[in-house]
Amino acid sequence: HADTAMYHAKYLGRDNIQFYSPSLTHQAMRRLNMETALRRALEAQEFYLVYQPQLDLSTGRILSVEALIRWAHPQQGMISPMEFIPLAESNGLIIPIGEWVLRTACREVAHWHARGHPLRVAVNLSPAQFRHGVLTDIVRDILQDTGLKAAHLEMEITESTLMDESATTLQTLRELHEMGLKISLDDFGTGYSSMSYLKRLPLHNLKVDRSFVSGLPHDTESLAIIKAIISLGESLGFTVTAEGVETLAQAEILKQQSCHALQGYYFSQPVSSDRILALLDKHKKNDGPASI
Ligand code: C2E
Ligand code: MG
Ligand code: MG
Ligand code: MG
Repeated sequence: HADTAMYHAKYLGRDNIQFYSPSLTHQAMRRLNMETALRRALEAQEFYLVYQPQLDLSTGRILSVEALIRWAHPQQGMISPMEFIPLAESNGLIIPIGEWVLRTACREVAHWHARGHPLRVAVNLSPAQFRHGVLTDIVRDILQDTGLKAAHLEMEITESTLMDESATTLQTLRELHEMGLKISLDDFGTGYSSMSYLKRLPLHNLKVDRSFVSGLPHDTESLAIIKAIISLGESLGFTVTAEGVETLAQAEILKQQSCHALQGYYFSQPVSSDRILALLDKHKKNDGPASI
């Protein structure tokens, strides 16, 4: 009897009859619910941005921040972008969400500028936003509406965007570069792409992935990789930022290796726009050290 067979399979072959695994059902349900919730999250204004300072080592000051999206789900609380961004990428919602991120970041940072703090903002972009083909127009509109200059906007892309190699993606990168935006390669060292794009594409900055920084100061392999990335970046004319700096010892060794900028919990967690503004005001008044 079919039902009996299923019944046995449920207990004997958990790996084969995954549909019966309670944890998978739970996961599938969560994903389905999240997808529904994600569809109305923009309109319900459940997203907001936080900003993490990037410390420029040549001046010792905060010259830029990275914008990071947050989702406050009304029932489930905070949901990590590591969970909902991949989902938004798979169902196309990343297009409107990504545009919201760009517009909000530019608007908030333009407000800081009006208050006397001309910082640059780095925004994370997904491959689909480049493939979409209208990113340049969207960015131009947003800059016009918010009054932010192109030089104050930086795009953080990953190797997956570069590996795309679609004509639209490459053209969009060139257009953004010509407009005067900076382009930064995020999570550098973790992707699978060839390095030939480094000489072909208009890049400005490499962000050393946190996984290498976390090995410092003791892990000699991590240090060797970081040294190699800094020297590669320098000889190609890029700046190099280290992400995930959590300790003074890590900051010191990166400074000693002539890394250009540092970002991480050691200096500051990502914080609200108001909080950044308050910190910038305070530093301006005291003219003290720019580290937070
Ligand atoms: P990412 O772009 O590499 O961002 C850095 C992540 O590391 C952030 O996590 C940040 O909060 C975290 N971080 C910063 N300093 C430290 C540190 O010292 N130690 C540790 N352990 N972590 C640190 P978050 O905000 O959860 O974002 C995760 C990822 O989600 C981002 O990685 C990015 O890939 C993606 N993401 C976030 N916001 C956006 C967005 O607006 N658009 C897109 N497309 N992706 C986004
Ligand atoms: Mg990033
Ligand atoms: Mg990163
Ligand atoms: Mg990362």
